[in-house]
Amino acid sequence: MRAMLIVMTPGATDEEIGRVERRIESLGFRAHRLAGSQRTAIGITGNERAVEAAEFEALPGVSHAVPVTRPFHLVSRETHPDDTIIEVAGRRLGGSHFTVIAGPCAVETLEQTLAVARRVQSAGAHVLRGGAWKPRTSPYSFQGLGRDGLKILDRARRETGLPIITEAMDTETVEMVAEYADIIQIGARNMQNYSLLKRVGRTKRPVMLKRGMSATLDELLMSAEYIAAEGNRQILLCERGVRTFSSHARNTLDLAAVPAVQALSHLPIFVDPSHGTGRRDKVLPLARAAAAVGAHGIMVEVHDQPERALSDGPQAIVPDQLESLMRDLRAIAALLDRTL
Ligand code: PEP
Ligand code: MN
Repeated sequence: MRAMLIVMTPGATDEEIGRVERRIESLGFRAHRLAGSQRTAIGITGNERAVEAAEFEALPGVSHAVPVTRPFHLVSRETHPDDTIIEVAGRRLGGSHFTVIAGPCAVETLEQTLAVARRVQSAGAHVLRGGAWKPRTSPYSFQGLGRDGLKILDRARRETGLPIITEAMDTETVEMVAEYADIIQIGARNMQNYSLLKRVGRTKRPVMLKRGMSATLDELLMSAEYIAAEGNRQILLCERGVRTFSSHARNTLDLAAVPAVQALSHLPIFVDPSHGTGRRDKVLPLARAAAAVGAHGIMVEVHDQPERALSDGPQAIVPDQLESLMRDLRAIAALLDRTL
């Protein structure tokens, strides 16, 4: 495949951009609009044969066409230098904004979810998390409440005003999850479930894609590309720890992935210090480190009674700890000129 990028002039009109897109589509290819702060470019994919640059350079509003030798990537910084900023319920995620997502691993009951949600809100965190479908190692472990869990999250959203993120585990339930969720989470185990990625790529909701537990960054970004190629560019990435020989933590939180992803991609990158460590006593230090290394936010598990949690109790912090963490994060964010 020979990919091509059509670069428009800074003053190109919507009509001229539209004309280029229609020409690309009339040739049987796909057009991907990349709006930059200075000018718009249009990427072409799906071309088995070479595309003639001259064919496009003759169109009004076109500055030039560049053949790209490497496969063209919607998620790469090369094709889109500006940071992607995603709006969720009036809040901006990515860029210079630092966002805290907090809540229980799983939605267990209405009481538990509301109790945690209220504390998440009063602590000043921005998004409520909670799984209604849980990917568990054992089929005998709590699997989540399914649609009832989504309804509980909806209730918590109405009570607190917090937007919600929850996991879609399979293609069959994506539509239902998209109906309730402000952000759809794709879990580490599903990072390379390509039919699921394509399916969420056809929704209109922002998607948080978690890194697989033994996935390289190229693999993570190619998975994000699956979502983007279907038309959904609202993608957040999340580092959640990888498998290593370490025995002092459940996973090894790869904080170097944060600047590495930021060099390669324009997508926001979050850090999950809960799954990244698996132990409550390590969550706060690693959350602070995530902010210091320049992540766009964290996602942290909180439970009001961790010893009774139906999943991931040992890594859940309690609401008082979330409050103290928020104070630390505010100080670190200020140091890096991030708004929290
Ligand atoms: C989760 O966030 O609840 C979860 C299951 O995380 P991961 O997919 O990273 O294991
Ligand atoms: Mn969990």
